[in-house]
Amino acid sequence: MSETPLAREIKDLIRQDGPIDVARYMALALGHPRHGYYITRDPLGAAGDFITAPEISQMFGEIIGLWAAHRWMILGSPTRIDLVELGPGRGTLMADALRAIGKVVPDFAKAITLHLVETSPALRKLQAASLSGRNPVWHDDITSLPDGPLIVIANEFFDALPVHQLVHRGGHWHERLVGLVDEELAFGLAPTPLPANLAPSLAGGALDGTIVEYPEAGSRVMAALSERLARFGGAALIIDYGHLEFGVGDTLQAMEDHRFVDPLARPGEADLTTHVCFETLARIAADKRLAVDILTTQAHFLNELGIRTMAANLSRHATPEQAEAIAKALERLTDDAPRAMGSLFKVLAVSAAGQGTA
Ligand code: SAH
Repeated sequence: MSETPLAREIKDLIRQDGPIDVARYMALALGHPRHGYYITRDPLGAAGDFITAPEISQMFGEIIGLWAAHRWMILGSPTRIDLVELGPGRGTLMADALRAIGKVVPDFAKAITLHLVETSPALRKLQAASLSGRNPVWHDDITSLPDGPLIVIANEFFDALPVHQLVHRGGHWHERLVGLVDEELAFGLAPTPLPANLAPSLAGGALDGTIVEYPEAGSRVMAALSERLARFGGAALIIDYGHLEFGVGDTLQAMEDHRFVDPLARPGEADLTTHVCFETLARIAADKRLAVDILTTQAHFLNELGIRTMAANLSRHATPEQAEAIAKALERLTDDAPRAMGSLFKVLAVSAAGQGTA
């Protein structure tokens, strides 16, 4: 496959300044102002590189809309509320959520001011189209969100945030770097180990070659979000692929045209993500005194919130072909076989303490 324009640029950068860490590489691959993967395109759907739950079925966004409605009621059904989505993609999830909210809890629908945190100009355009009439306010990051209670939704957002990778070698931890070998991008290690105070400490020690991921950007977002929720009230729902408990291992993956590719082969043209550590996110929230209300698999979450009843209701008014599509989507979203979507994806819900659970 041909070299991408961003690969050329990253190689020049490395020739000039030396190897870069994995977090910097991810940040460039996804967010470079001219060639960044998310900056230039709509990556979603059959014609794109990957498909997400809201693009599989309207039921996904509708269920999340009902979760949000419940949180609004717990807040005392205020006449004004800020509803926030981080990384809204095409706006599909939010459009489905708002449709369900409008049908079931019209007073909540009337109360909502919609905030979308999105860096991609290409996706902002699609969000404007799918949410026309809802007057969303866009934000580059969470720092400009209004002060006040928030109900926050993030599906497949945290996996796109840059992580550092640390490699254990000879009794020390070294930052994993991207440099050049024979003029090609290649992984390597920082020659100097991390200072002891920054090194991870693993129970039972670590073998040579063990990789640990440190989600610096995701941790920062989670901490800032948690601080807001603790101060002003509200709740957040985070859904992504990842693990419930902290584990070691390299989860950096690149996907192009629905296939895994080498993470260094196609910067700017392939999606680049890591698995999200939900234990880390939950711990950050708990440190900020938030309650951890839900920490489970997507299959369990969707089943608990009634996706099967929703599918049955939808099927009642459907043609046989539509009913089959609904059944297939239900199966895909809730399949909890190992590595299937329902078990690979996890759900974390946190809220300001004292504002009810579930
Ligand atoms: N939630 C959507 C899209 C997931 S793709 C869905 O489920 O279909 C990831 C989304 O996060 C995209 O909208 C992407 O542009 C956005 N994104 C990625 N990095 C971001 C960042 N640093 N800040 C804000 N948005 C980001």
